[in-house]
Amino acid sequence: MAARTPAVTMPEFEPLLPELTDLNRAYWEGLAAGEVRLQRCRRCGAYQYPPESFCYHCPGTELAWEAVRGHGEVYSFIVVHQRYHPAFGEHLPYVVATVQLDEGPRMLGAMFEQPASISIGMRVRPRIERVTEDRAALFFAPEEG
Ligand SMILES: [Zn+2]
Repeated sequence: MAARTPAVTMPEFEPLLPELTDLNRAYWEGLAAGEVRLQRCRRCGAYQYPPESFCYHCPGTELAWEAVRGHGEVYSFIVVHQRYHPAFGEHLPYVVATVQLDEGPRMLGAMFEQPASISIGMRVRPRIERVTEDRAALFFAPEEG
């Protein structure tokens, strides 16, 4: 993959990152390793996000982490024009999209393409960016390009 301009700047991103817990650690470690990882129920096979100690789809409580492709389509989006946080200030205006993953769950992610180029239903792929020394975060980008 070609080198990209970091999506956000350090250290401004640091306070935005959640603390690692037993529940979310595998997700964040996955991103740091360049993978999107989702919980998958061993009982019914459904993927889910955000992580929980139980399945959202059945009474199952045995969940395993799996690396997934993480592609999907834009389900909905907003365009952010306001400088809510310095980490994103240089990227205004930017898009925050709800992405319907092919695996099932919907996830939120920022997109830094021109907002006019984003549309409902467009295919997207994960764009994982290192945002601090040891952490990475999930964004999305158009599937082609
Ligand atoms: Zn289940």
